[in-house]
Formats: sequence, C-alpha cells, structure tokens
Amino acid sequence: MSSWSPNPRPPLDGQRFDVVIVGGGINGVAIAKECAGAGKRTLLVEKSDFGAGTTSRSSRIIHGGLRYLEHGEIGLVRESLRERERLLRSHPHLVRRRKFVFAIRDGQGFRSALAIRAGLWLYGRFGKSTRPHASNIEKELEAGSGLAVFDYEDALCEFPERLIAEWLGHAIRAGAEVRNHTDALEIELSGGTVRGIRLRDAFTGEEWRVGCGAVINATGPWVDRFCAQARIGTKRMVGGVRGSHVVLPVFPGAPKTPVYTEAEDGRPIFLLPWNGQFLLGTTEAFDDGDPGDAQPSQAEIDYLFAALHRLLPRNGLTQGDVRYAYAGVRPLPYSPGTVASNIPRGHYLVDHADDGAPGLISVVGGKLTTAARLARDCARRIGIKVNEPAIDLCAVPSSDGICSALRQWAHQVSGVLGISRETAFAIAQWHGADALTVTRLAASDPVWRTSICSHSPHIVAEVAKAVRHEKAVSLGDILLRRVPVALGACWTAECSQEAAEKIGYALGWPLSRIDVELENFESERSAFLHPRQGTRTPRLTQRGGRR
Ligand SMILES: Cc1cc2nc3c(=O)[nH]c(=O)nc-3n(C[C@H](O)[C@H](O)[C@H](O)COP(=O)(O)OP(=O)(O)OC[C@H]3O[C@@H](n4cnc5c(N)ncnc54)[C@H](O)[C@@H]3O)c2cc1C
Repeated sequence: MSSWSPNPRPPLDGQRFDVVIVGGGINGVAIAKECAGAGKRTLLVEKSDFGAGTTSRSSRIIHGGLRYLEHGEIGLVRESLRERERLLRSHPHLVRRRKFVFAIRDGQGFRSALAIRAGLWLYGRFGKSTRPHASNIEKELEAGSGLAVFDYEDALCEFPERLIAEWLGHAIRAGAEVRNHTDALEIELSGGTVRGIRLRDAFTGEEWRVGCGAVINATGPWVDRFCAQARIGTKRMVGGVRGSHVVLPVFPGAPKTPVYTEAEDGRPIFLLPWNGQFLLGTTEAFDDGDPGDAQPSQAEIDYLFAALHRLLPRNGLTQGDVRYAYAGVRPLPYSPGTVASNIPRGHYLVDHADDGAPGLISVVGGKLTTAARLARDCARRIGIKVNEPAIDLCAVPSSDGICSALRQWAHQVSGVLGISRETAFAIAQWHGADALTVTRLAASDPVWRTSICSHSPHIVAEVAKAVRHEKAVSLGDILLRRVPVALGACWTAECSQEAAEKIGYALGWPLSRIDVELENFESERSAFLHPRQGTRTPRLTQRGGRR
C-alpha cells in the first residue's frame, strides 16, 4: 500500500473506556452497538476496514440453518430462524425473504427425496414459514433436466457490508468511538486483570494506550493470532476452514431462484443470483495461513465448476467466464480430527480468566445470521442486562409489506430534483430509512447528484454519507463496502479511475491523493476479488462509451 495520511484523526491516547472491542466484522460491530446502546463507554477498533474480513467473503445467506438440521443442531436452527425473522423485520431493504430450491440429480444424490422432504417440512414448521409457490421453478432449471427439485424459504443479504455500516451508525449515535485502520497490539494487565490496550494507527504509525475494564476479542479467524500478539497464553480456539466462491456472469438458462445443490462428495453448494451476477460456492479447506491472505485454489475452482456442470450440464460456462474469485476463512472452533462439515456452527465465548487475563473475552464462531444474538450473549457476559427482543413468529409480514417500506423510501428520494427513479430505488435499497440523509445531501449541491460511475445508478452523495457518518476513510472503504458499486457486474479499471476522480473532486482531495487512493484501491480490489481479465480492461461499445 502506498502511504498517504487522511485528515489526522484525534488521538485516543490516555482515554478510558468501559469496553474495547477488537475486530470490526459483523460480530464486533454488533457487540459495539449492544454495549454502546446499554450506555457503556465503548471503543471499537479494526485493523483494516469494518467488514473487510470474513464478513464480506461469505455466501451472504441469512439462513435458518437448514443444513444444521442434518447434524441434529436443532437449537441452532431455532435460534437462526428467530434471528432471520428479526433481520427481515428490522432491515427489510437489506435482508430479503427468498424462495430457494433444493435441486439434486434424480437417484444420484447423497440425500434421498424422502429425507429432503421431511427435512424441509420440519424446517418450514420451525420457521413458521408459508410454503412458497412452486410455479416455474422446474422451468428455470429446465437446462438441467433429470433434477429433483424441492422448494423452501430462506433469506439473502446481498450486502452484509451495508448491514455493518448501519449497525456502525447505531453504535456511533449511541456514543461509541469507532476506529478502522487501527491495529490492536497488546493488552495491558495489572493487578491480575485487564487494564488497558495498546493501539496503532495504520496511517500515521502513531501508537496509543487506552485504559479499559474489558476487552472483547472479536477478531473472527484471527482470534488466536490476536491472543498471541497480545501475549495472552491460551489454548488454541479456532481452526480456520477456508471457503471459496466464484462470481459468474448471467448465462442462458440461469435460474432466477437461489439453488441449493450437492457437490459430487455430497457437500452443499449454492448458486445464488447476486448483484446482477451469480455467486457459486462454497468449499471447505483447512487453512492455517493469515486469513487476510486467503485465496481460492485452482482445485477449489475445479470443484465448484464440477458441481455447476452436474447441476446444469448445458450452462455453457467455462472457467474463462469467471469474473471474480474470492475466499474467506470461517472462524470455526478448533476441532482436530473432525471433518470440516461436521464442526459445529454455533458460537461460544471464551473467558480468559483461567489464562491469567480476567476481563478478556474471545468470541469463537458465529454467522451473519446470528451476530445480533452473539452480541447480546457477549454483553451479558460483561455484566450488561439484556433482554431477548420479543418476536412473534406467527405474525410473519407479507413480502408485499416489506416491499412497501422500500417503495416508500424510494418515493421520498425520487422527490429530489434531478434524481431518477432508478437512482432513488438503488439508494433506498442500500440505505433504507437513512436514504433521507442521502437525499438532503443530494438536494444541496449538483456535485453530490453525480453518478459515481456513468453506468451505476448510485451517486456521490452516498459517498459523502459514508465519509461523514460511516467512517469510510479510503477509496476501498467507500467502493468495496459502504457504497459497494465496485462489486458490480460491469466494474472495470476504467470505472475505478472515473469513480476516483469524481469522488476526489467532490471531497476536495488533491490530485496526488487521488492517484495514491486509486493505486491502493486497485491493489485491494485485486487482493480481495482476484478480478479476471474482463473486469480489468474496459470494454468499449461502438459509440466508444463503456457498457
Ligand atoms: C466462505 C464462507 C461463507 C459463509 N457464508 C455464510 C452465510 O451464507 N451466512 C452466514 O450467516 N454466515 C456465513 N459465513 C460465516 C460468517 O461470514 C462469519 O462467521 C462471520 O462473518 C464472522 O464475522 P466476525 O466478525 O467474527 O469475523 P470477521 O468478519 O473476519 O471480522 C474480524 C475482524 O477482525 C479484524 N482484526 C483482526 N486482528 C485485529 C487486530 N489485531 N486489531 C484490530 N482488528 C483486527 C480483521 O481485520 C477483521 O475485519 C460464511 C463464512 C465463510 C468463510
């Protein structure tokens, strides 16, 4: 990364907090929101950017845990279904109920049709979900004739990055101090308990010491690395299991519905319509390396393609069509000798009092779906009184009810002069009720109404919100996570250049900063997404414009 300094952030040195949370993935952010909401003086530190770790490398399914049913983890299924419903109600613009299909090759599957029917019936009963209509599912999958198809209901959060940004906003408004690009180095113990923590600002290299009564280690797959770095001797907690995805273009005969299928070894594979593309994943490979360096191996890509061809033999895709490939490491409990698929998927908390560090708690496991529940458990562990929010599973809102909230937000945004209906809907989808903050900015100056890139409906006002209210600092924070247009189907290096110039101009960055930001952004994008040729070189239409 080339070096530059954003506007210096106020030093934290000498400040005192009730609780310091290390790690700004979905779990750390949820914990910060819970602690700050309870009136605790809270600091959240993240060495990279919020959501840049495992959270943005997941399959993005908010699931009740259908596959946990097979492993007999009934409690986890019930908990996940309850959390799924809460998210559907609280974030209807980001978490959407979707009809999924379970598709297996007739007579060749690892699971019998009877077992699948029984499992789906039970899953539907636990979730009290209405059975989705089965119309057209077979048609959507007609390219793969000979499939046995079963439908069920689950949910997708296409952009957990945005869910994190919203929770971050809640935490900040409740008084939390949140710092990305800040590494937690070492925990200070004295008198037999946690007294403070040493931090380093990644931009300036400045080191600070802050006082605190509790530290929550929410570093996901880095949990053991953080303890080692902080010089806390403890037994190993996490056994990293890498999971890879490939992102594919829409192809003839592609299903419109998320599909759950089996790989040749019986493992579950998802083919998900996502962000104008298809997400195909995932794999399970033990990985002891730095989770930040995880990348898909050729064997994993071959495995995913074999599963795709088994599901839809006439899909017409080759590995040359892969647009992106990314990998993340699941922070699963260390379970030597256990097959990865059999490792329990629930979360638990480790109190390090026995390791001579009372006041330090490590978070192990967890999922996007259950992050809020994990945060409540964690808050209770440090003495905060938290009740489980009530939920009436019988009163499932209709999908129409959910869409009407979105339509209402979009309608409010489209009232601003110069904002198209498409842009209004795109803003409402990513910002929900906060779309009004974007609207106010957009109304104040035409520069904020400019599109980030000429073929994206998203506008520069969203960037201003990201910087002012959601702690985005670098171009990568903006384009990959707060306003994640760079994950889109037609993003190229030319789009990066255009976006950097427009954002730099609107935010008043000097030219030298725009250059450095662009260079850093392109390296981050490559290290994360491994873009293939088509997404690196601009494609020109006959008129000379981009597609
Ligand atoms: C391939 C794959 C698919 C998945 N699919 C799903 C799914 O569909 N649905 C679902 O519910 N769950 C899914 N999961 C699980 C889910 O994504 C993770 O369990 C969850 O994102 C973990 O969040 P986290 O906050 O614990 O960790 P992370 O998101 O990894 O956050 C930890 C953060 O800690 C930071 N950090 C590390 N060390 C330090 C330090 N010293 N100082 C400061 N910060 C530090 C890191 O930079 C990182 O951002 C999937 C996981 C994988 C890998």
